[in-house]
Formats: sequence, C-alpha cells, structure tokens
Amino acid sequence: MDRATSLEKDKKHVWHPFTQMQTAGEPLCIVKAEATTLTDANGKEYIDANSSWWVNVHGHGHPYLGEALQEQFAQLDHVIFAGATHPQAIKLADRITSLLPEKLEKVFFSDDGSTAVEVALKMAFQYWHNKNEPKKRIIALDGAYHGDTFGAMSIGQRGAFNKPFEHLFFDVDFIDFPKDEARSHSLIQAEQILQTGEVAAVIVEPLVQGSAGMRMYDAVWLDAFVSLARKYKALVIFDEVMTAWGRTGKLFAHNFCAEEPDLICLSKGLTGGVLPLGLTVATNEIYDAFLHPETSKALLHGHSFTGSAMACAVANASLDLFEQPETWDSIEWIEERHRYFIEALKAHSKVKDIGLCGTILRFEIETGEGNNYYSTIRDQAYNYFLERGCLIRPLGNVLYLNPPYCISEEELDKLHVVLLDFLDDIS
Ligand code: PLP
Repeated sequence: MDRATSLEKDKKHVWHPFTQMQTAGEPLCIVKAEATTLTDANGKEYIDANSSWWVNVHGHGHPYLGEALQEQFAQLDHVIFAGATHPQAIKLADRITSLLPEKLEKVFFSDDGSTAVEVALKMAFQYWHNKNEPKKRIIALDGAYHGDTFGAMSIGQRGAFNKPFEHLFFDVDFIDFPKDEARSHSLIQAEQILQTGEVAAVIVEPLVQGSAGMRMYDAVWLDAFVSLARKYKALVIFDEVMTAWGRTGKLFAHNFCAEEPDLICLSKGLTGGVLPLGLTVATNEIYDAFLHPETSKALLHGHSFTGSAMACAVANASLDLFEQPETWDSIEWIEERHRYFIEALKAHSKVKDIGLCGTILRFEIETGEGNNYYSTIRDQAYNYFLERGCLIRPLGNVLYLNPPYCISEEELDKLHVVLLDFLDDIS
C-alpha cells in the first residue's frame, strides 16, 4: 500500500491515543526501526529521542531480543496462565525477585503499566479487606500519572485526561510535589491524612514523575515519606513503570533509597520495549493475606495474555542485556554527556528547571504561561524537531530526552544541538 493510501485508511479507521482527531495533523507513518533510527514511508529518518514512549531501552530491532522471540515462538507462543505455567515465566519471576529487595517475592503478571498499577491497587485494597481491617483511601503525589485504566486514573492528577470519569473515582488524597518549600509541607500533609488510619496505600513514581514533565525529587524525601507510611501502617507502592531499567542510572529508582516498597509495578522497558508485559511484585506478607480456604479471598484477577510466553522470553533476554557491562557503560556515558550539555543549557535565557537523573535530561521553556501541558510551544517544538530528523515529544513546555542506550555520540550530540537551535530560534 502506498503512503497516501495508508494515511487515508488511517484517517478513516484508526483512532489514535491521546489525540484530538479533529485537529490532529497527519501522523508519521513509520515503516522501519533499527537501533535508534525510525524511518518513515518517505524514507526520512528520525532519532527516537524518547525511546518510543520510554520503552525501547536497548534500541529497536535488537538482534539478541529478536532471536529470543523467534526461539520462543517455535517452542511455545502462548498458554493459559490459570492452572498452567511455563519455563519463561518461572525464570522471569525468579530473576526479577533476585534483583528486588528480599521481601518482594511474589510476581503477578499482567499486560502493561496501567494493569500493573491496577493489580497493585487491588492487592492493596483486598489485603486490608482480607485482614478484616478495610481501608479505603490512597495517598498519591500531585502531578501523578499511573495509567489510563479506572484505578490508575483515580490516583492520577485530575485534569482533561480523566475529567469525564471523575465521579467514578475512589478516595484519593494528593499531597504536594516535594520540591523546594513544599518538601516538608508535603510530609505534614501526608501525616495528617495517614493519622485517620484509613489509608490503604501510598503510591509514588519514585524519584522521577514521568508524564508530569520528568519532574525530579530526592530519595531522602522519599525515604521520609515511606517511613511515615510505615508508622501509620499504610502499604507502599512504587510505580517503577518508567523509572526502572537503568533510566535513573541504576537498575531501579528505589536502588537510591534506604526504604523498600511493599508492592512494585514494572512494565515498559521490561521487555526492551518489544512486547507488552506488566508485573506487580508483592511481599510475602501481602501474598499470605490472600491464602485462605475460601476462593473469594484469592486475588480473582487475570487477563487473557497474563504471563505471555513470548513477552516473558523477550523480558528474560532483556535482563541478559542488563547483565552486560556495556549496557551500564552506555547509561553512564549518556548521563555524562547530558551533564556536559547542561552547561550550555544553563546559559540560555529561555531555559528553567533543568533536571538530570541517569539518562533522563529535562528542562522547561520559559513561555510566561507557567507549566502548561497545552502550551502552544509544544506543537511548535515537536514539528521543529521532526523537521530536523528528531522525534522528541515535549510534555507541554517541558523538553526532555531519554534515548535508547545504544545511541551514538554523534546522534546524542545532534539531539543536544537541535534542542539548542530551537531555543535560539524562539528567543
Ligand atoms: N505508570 C507510569 C509511571 C507511567 O509512566 C505509565 C505510562 O506512561 C504508566 C504507569 C501506564 O503504563 P501503560 O501506558 O503501559 O499502560
């Protein structure tokens, strides 16, 4: 099918995510991806600066991941996961738990980041229900994004994304994002809510809030918050859907913390971005609260693709890549290169709130409108970058890079130069 026909059919039949279909421009029609490069139907190439929604951590079409997929397909593509299991899921659960804090021992499989969060919420609420101490509140951080299913939306920042559904949400208290003077205030807010004894769990994106604009906060605050939750017997959920897999410079963001969560949600880079897969990992203590002769006390939750053998195989292969020192050399190198680039950014009058955490570099463009997701600068920047062969999707007036780890020096330098050129252009 030629490009024009493809786009015509796309317009006729495809409903794109997060998109106002009436006003949206023509989508990119990507026909090929290799390492960091996406190629469109016209043969134009783009550097995938945000790893395609932060998932393709090793780059696209990694041959090692491809081999793992092919081998698994030849062996076992898929099998029901209730009443059956398979070697790739067992291997993955064993490996993941060996990488996490010792008390996190039970792995529940689902499909993506939202369902990993949904399962964590169900586990948290049912844990208290099964213990005959029902608790109905959750504490989340202002600006949070945990996905688009109903539970995940409930605990996310209220706004246009979830406005039509607000009447269906459960009780959530949002505390201030822990930055500057709000740092200690947010802990006071948390303690006041926790004192009610009604809080089933607290949930955070540890150290970096992704969709809020890669907003960063420190591990000391997070440790203090977790200690408070412990004091008042609330469970602690770390949503590491975005922050895991080396993004923050360590395998998991919680590796920077002294405190440990009771539940952790994983997805995105888990499979190197090749197939969807979500994991919710729980402590034995939570798991034990579901053990009972009555079926109704069990976690009666599952998805058709739960424990997908193909997804587990590619996740295991991705973990192999994380065992290679070269992956960590690249992560370190990207952070260093960003650090060097920050010096140039700092000198720019349009730039504020620069942040760096591992391979994630972010900054805000001073537009005079404050932090605004719908800032007009967003589309202007996006189109400018596309023109220059870079796929960088701003989050409002926040520009950020979190590239695949296989990015070359030349490509990363190009991204940095293009960002600076854009800033010069709008100055
Ligand atoms: N949690 C976090 C921290 C995320 O960043 C996202 C997606 O961006 C999600 C959950 C939802 O993941 P998914 O889009 O795979 O459902």
